[in-house]
Amino acid sequence: MARTDAIVLGAGIVGTSTALQLARRGLGVALVDRRAPGEETSYGNAGIIEGNTIFPPAFPSSSRALLRIALKRAPEANYHLRHLPRAAPWLLAFWAASRPHRLVETARIIRPLFSRALAEHEALLAAAGAAGYLRRAGWLKLYRSDAAVAAIGRELDLAQEFGIACRRLDLDGARALEPDLAPVFRHAVHWPDAASVSNPLAVTRAYAAHLARLGGVVLTGNARSLHRADGRWRIDTAEGPVDASEVVLALGPFAPGALDPLGIRLPLGIKRGYHRHFRTGGSAALTRPVVDVENGYCLAPMEQGIRLTTGAEFAACGAPPTPVQLDRLLPTARALFALAEPVEATPWMGCRPCFADSRPVIGRAPGHAGLWLAYGHGHWGLTLGPATGRLLAEMMTGETPFCDPAPYGAERFKC
Ligand SMILES: Cc1cc2nc3c(=O)[nH]c(=O)nc-3n(C[C@H](O)[C@H](O)[C@H](O)COP(=O)(O)OP(=O)(O)OC[C@H]3O[C@@H](n4cnc5c(N)ncnc54)[C@H](O)[C@@H]3O)c2cc1C
Repeated sequence: MARTDAIVLGAGIVGTSTALQLARRGLGVALVDRRAPGEETSYGNAGIIEGNTIFPPAFPSSSRALLRIALKRAPEANYHLRHLPRAAPWLLAFWAASRPHRLVETARIIRPLFSRALAEHEALLAAAGAAGYLRRAGWLKLYRSDAAVAAIGRELDLAQEFGIACRRLDLDGARALEPDLAPVFRHAVHWPDAASVSNPLAVTRAYAAHLARLGGVVLTGNARSLHRADGRWRIDTAEGPVDASEVVLALGPFAPGALDPLGIRLPLGIKRGYHRHFRTGGSAALTRPVVDVENGYCLAPMEQGIRLTTGAEFAACGAPPTPVQLDRLLPTARALFALAEPVEATPWMGCRPCFADSRPVIGRAPGHAGLWLAYGHGHWGLTLGPATGRLLAEMMTGETPFCDPAPYGAERFKC
């Protein structure tokens, strides 16, 4: 029987960062996953560390946009009809959380966590010898119509209030930053203080390797084997059972499978997303991620090629992939940037773990001593992994948390 101070279940970016933050505070840590670190949702994101983010993604506010989605003509969203009855309560809560005053409220609530996002990554990247993956060139959001850019006035006002740098650009200004973008848009906003990584999988792997250097262990095991034994938590792994007094559950979209048997049911929704890498035509290149806002996709330069990522698909995590959004987007994306042939035979699919109020759950699991939760990071798991890990590690070790953890507690769901 192996004993350690803390077991972290789930070696995505959130769990691996949390394990590392605990190990940096001197705790013995076992990081347990059924796969190798970083191979699920954390593999396929757009690589953006969005410390500058203000508003969360919102339910469409115009009936025209909603109709386009309902008719399956929208590139930014798709759904499986048979999934809608199950998703309905979540969608209703998401709609309520998307009212303008709630979005502003959320922007203020999540700011403390976001404001630490880049600094915490920088610290871990430097310690892990992985700073070479980081690009500090910001990200660029493109707007094709005057109406679309007019709609972000509130966001820009809040950016000023929060002290977040942003630069409004016209077509020429944007093309001065990214000369290979075609002139199919009218406006852009450059958020210079955001950053991005050129290989999210490599970053999670580097954090896991650094954990091992600090004395932590990375083990193979099934989180569903978690149980109480002799007054401690116990998990079965390929190397035998491991005991600890503290357990962090960081299973992203897979969390409900391990929490249900413990009687913990929080209203997690799933927004699936896809990506595919493309080679570039000729010498075309991008130096930072570029988002085509009205069409809901991102072009992110990665080591593997240009990664085209999609918006949301409302479908069960385990249902077969239906990458129709990529098909809808491709002509639009190709008109913007010279994407040549795809690198892989089939697109990648992942499941964003989302709470309707766009906040993760970070803190104690109600009713279970020594059990901690860190999941539900939605569109921002890469961004918030290290900041989440720090906040949780501070709570677990009795340090003063760098921000008030109350808004991220599971108790907000009145469970
Ligand atoms: C298309 C797309 C683009 C995105 N772009 C961005 C972006 O640019 N910036 C950003 O910040 N975020 C982005 N995201 C969101 C981000 O990728 C996720 O929020 C993040 O990866 C979630 O990380 P996680 O560690 O919580 O989950 P995961 O990475 O899914 O990790 C969970 C881990 O738990 C393990 N696991 C599951 N079940 C078990 C079990 N029973 N036993 C043991 N282990 C188990 C899995 O193997 C996995 O390793 C994007 C997401 C998508 C889909």
